[in-house]
Amino acid sequence: MSHIRVFKWFALTLILAAFLCQSGIAQSDSGLAADADTVLSESSAEMTETSSMTDTVSSAGYEYPISAERKAKLISYSRFVNIWRFVGFFVTLGVMALILFTGLSAKLRDWAGVAKKKFLIVWLFVIMFVIVDYLLNFPFHFYRSFVVENQYGFLNQSFGEWLGEDLLGLLVTMVAIVIPVWFLYWLINKARLWWLWMTVIMIPIMVFFIVIAPVLIDPLFNKYEPLQDKQLEAEILQLASAAGIEGSDVFQVNASKQSAKVNAYVTGLFGTKRIVLYDTMIDNFETDEMKFVMGHEMGHYVMHHIWKGLGLAVLFIAFALWLTGRTINPIIIRFKSRFKFDRLGDIASLPLVLIFLTVLGFLFNPVSNGYSRHMERQSDKYGMDISKVSGESAAIAFDKLSVINLSDPDPHPLIEFWFYTHPALSKRINFVLTYKPEGS
Ligand SMILES: [Zn+2]
Repeated sequence: MSHIRVFKWFALTLILAAFLCQSGIAQSDSGLAADADTVLSESSAEMTETSSMTDTVSSAGYEYPISAERKAKLISYSRFVNIWRFVGFFVTLGVMALILFTGLSAKLRDWAGVAKKKFLIVWLFVIMFVIVDYLLNFPFHFYRSFVVENQYGFLNQSFGEWLGEDLLGLLVTMVAIVIPVWFLYWLINKARLWWLWMTVIMIPIMVFFIVIAPVLIDPLFNKYEPLQDKQLEAEILQLASAAGIEGSDVFQVNASKQSAKVNAYVTGLFGTKRIVLYDTMIDNFETDEMKFVMGHEMGHYVMHHIWKGLGLAVLFIAFALWLTGRTINPIIIRFKSRFKFDRLGDIASLPLVLIFLTVLGFLFNPVSNGYSRHMERQSDKYGMDISKVSGESAAIAFDKLSVINLSDPDPHPLIEFWFYTHPALSKRINFVLTYKPEGS
């Protein structure tokens, strides 16, 4: 698993933690597939409609060096995405608040009461809640994911096809969140330290999604085979041995099937070590550029970045749940006549819990992303040290990533600070061009 998957997985973690943040995020259950895509650089598509962006790139292809016109377009698009990060945040909060203050959440709970069994009540409530949330979000979601994507020529779907996939995502959301929601409310009603138990339960779920699912599930969608280019394989194995990653297998995967995005990762699981390169990278990168990228990936592996990221996520979940438990009750009491529920253990409080977790997640962004950028810088340095390629080769690799993965190389510093899991590409390019590797 790509290290970076971890950071993309921060997003998923927050989804799991928030169980259903906003339709926008929860629906990119394609998040699962999408997360695998943004490994090496910040992508504009990140956390949004990655699937449609993905189509885009593959259909449009890309040329290198990038034309001024296409560059302007990508930058304008990524600026829009950046603004939308805020719009989406406030829309999510607004919709939850509406559901709460109109007493609708309590009504949904009453309607769900027709089911006699506790678990069924939760399930019915969740289904109705997800639908209501989807409908209220729809105008914004439609504008963002259909209208704008179309304007930029990124969408290859008719409205019908788009809606069909969207509704499928809705269905997946309903099924996926009912168990954690049920668990959460069961714990709240049973255990004083519910926030701690909930965190404990989240750990195996996260480990599964981050570490195991990619190895078990990715092969269902793509073909993994030994790297064809034996010369390249030899070079990569030599790098691996220098990094102390012995006995690895090197695979190539036909990722171009879904997307033109470039990716690579190093992973170890069940005693096997695998180094994986996307065919998109093999086709478009020179050997030295790939050596730098692989050195970077090996850096993540050797420095255990995935586990560090996971550790931070666990701490955040514990903290967010604890803080929610400590601060939510006065608000429930204050508005109980509007909300029509008077305790946290009432399933009707779910939208309020989601508001808390969404806000805390948003506030936590600079911490998790700052830590992620720190690890990326460490890996860039590691990649330079171990691959011993020229700064120019590494810079070209970054430039190609910016083109292929549709990222703004030079975002506003505040946007980078708050949202970017990777340093701005312009900074990374600057670093490799001026860096003198150790021992040279
Ligand atoms: Zn990285």
